[in-house]
This record gives sequence, structure tokens and C-alpha cells, in this order.
Amino acid sequence: MKKGKLIVISGPSGVGKSTIRDRLLEENDNLWYSISMTTRAPREGEEHGVHYFFVTEEEFLKSISKNELIEYMEVYKGTYYGTPKKEIDKRLKKGIDVLLEIDVDGALNIKKLYEDAIMIFITPPSLEELEKRLKLRNTNSIEDIKERLIKAKYEIEMSKYYDFVVTNEKVNKCVKDITDFIQEKKN
Ligand code: 5GP
Repeated sequence: MKKGKLIVISGPSGVGKSTIRDRLLEENDNLWYSISMTTRAPREGEEHGVHYFFVTEEEFLKSISKNELIEYMEVYKGTYYGTPKKEIDKRLKKGIDVLLEIDVDGALNIKKLYEDAIMIFITPPSLEELEKRLKLRNTNSIEDIKERLIKAKYEIEMSKYYDFVVTNEKVNKCVKDITDFIQEKKN
């Protein structure tokens, strides 16, 4: 049986990754989303085990020491995010594609472990537009937004290491471009 593909999506906070991820999952029956573990607090409407596994720092550190994460990062100061290992290889072996939505440093570590991972970077039309979207989302403090914009500049610089960089100007077009690229890579 043909093995599944690991698909990694990254992009600055506020670029629309979750919307795109949800659309990709809706449109692909053979795609499984790996839910990350995080120490950040849930935002309104977010559920444990659906959007993230929300854990305490102590629980997170325990997972690291038990070698349960394939990668993890302190993405924002004092806030950890990590990818649980257990299910990923099992799904790939079964021929199921696995989607990760993780930050650039974590993604580059994944690429070292899975050389044939399909690496996709979603970029905003401009930094001004990103700032506007972050403010509109209204879920982050001004300090948070500042930190996310500083990180966004670094992330966009790192997009040169990705296989495909796509601008999220219009969601439908962005989803289609990503789907076409994945298909091309799989053939
Ligand atoms: P947010 O707090 O907005 O949900 O996510 C913040 C950042 O953490 C995003 O860039 C997201 O891609 C990244 N992230 C989410 N899960 C993981 C993970 O498991 N590992 C790494 N390295 N980054 C993650």
C-alpha cells in the first residue's frame, strides 16, 4: 500500500491558517489533522481535543520527558506548542495523509525527520493587512499582536525553505492552489 504524505502548513498568526486547514479537511476524506498540544489558554470557542490539547506547563514538560512529541517549540514567550508522535506514523503507514499546522522552526525540524514532507507556507497580502486581520480577530492583546507581527517578519523570511508559498488574498483561491499543489506532489 502507498504510504500517506505528511503535509505541513505554516504561516504567520492571523493569516487564515485555521480556515484553510478546515476547508482542506472538509474536502479531503483521506486527510487527518494532527491536533497539537499547547500551554496557551483556550480562546473563546476553542475546545480541548478539537483545536488543541490544552495542558499545563507541567504536563507539557512531562510529555517531553516521556518522548511523546516529535517536535515542540516555545512559539511565543512562555507558550509551548508540540506535535504528539503517537498517531502520525500509524496513519501514514495506513496510506492516510497527515496535516500539521505548525510554526516555521517546528516545520523545519519535521522536514529533517520526514524528508518527503510537503511544505506549504501561507503568506498575507502584506504586513499591514495581517495587522488589520489580527486586530479584527480581537482575541489577542495589543502586546500579543506586537509579538505576532515581529514573529511574522521572521516567518516570512523563512518561507524560502518551503516547497510552496501561497498568498491568502481570497480563501477559495488559496485552498484550490494548495489542493492542486498537493495533488501534483502526490502524482
Ligand atoms: P495560535 O496560538 O495562534 O493557535 O498558534 C500560534 C502558532 O503556533 C502558529 O504559528 C501555529 O502554527 C503554531 N503551532 C501550533 N501547533 C504547533 C505545534 O505542534 N508545533 C509547533 N512548532 N508550532 C505549532
